Amino acid sequence: MLGSGSAFSGCGHNSAYCVDGRILVDCGCAVQVQMPRAGLAVGEVTTVLLTHFHADHTYMLPVFLGARALEVRSPTPLRLAGPHGIEEYVRRLVRTGYGAGLHALIEENLRPATVVLQDGSDVTVDGYRIRAHAVVHSTGPSLAYAVTAPDGVTVGFSGDSEICAGLRRCVAATDVMVCECTSFDGPLASHIWAGEVSELVESFPRTRFVLSHLSDRRPLEGALVAHDLLTLEIPPPG
Ligand SMILES: [Zn+2]
Repeated sequence: MLGSGSAFSGCGHNSAYCVDGRILVDCGCAVQVQMPRAGLAVGEVTTVLLTHFHADHTYMLPVFLGARALEVRSPTPLRLAGPHGIEEYVRRLVRTGYGAGLHALIEENLRPATVVLQDGSDVTVDGYRIRAHAVVHSTGPSLAYAVTAPDGVTVGFSGDSEICAGLRRCVAATDVMVCECTSFDGPLASHIWAGEVSELVESFPRTRFVLSHLSDRRPLEGALVAHDLLTLEIPPPG
């Protein structure tokens, strides 16, 4: 858990998570700082998965890509995967942040492959199966992901969402769900709050919940509340 805070609360860094040091989910915080602190290396990320195109989930992507492009040793091939429009969005983000020069360097050194995902997408990258579920949020296409590691463990990421069918499908497919919990005090438009998390915990007893995208930290029965740099080791099913 590289960043566990909600967009504006200051409760933690903005959203970013990493599975096995290889799959980076969202890039809202300075992952080139947070990954080494977690004992991980930016150069070993093979896939970046974006849940949606809000700033608190994506605005450090140009910095991550720059860090990768400027690495001296030969970088691992990189895939950028996310909702429809990802290629144009990332291009604009990099060019706005750093101009055409760094964009060209990233293209030349990394040659990042783009993978467009949508509801129902089911792809395997480097032995990790990624299933995408459309969720309801306040911006364009937004996706939750279920990521199954080669050892059979499935970790889910809600991104930002309301309670909706896609989110429930994602939770049902996961052993551990990194679930948004933006409020503890009451409903919030386009987001999930603690009361709704409790309902999910009750509805999906097989799934363990880790709460993130936090604007506060309070205990919630049946769930673990994340903090920045929390590392979880999840035993294989059975
Ligand atoms: Zn957010």
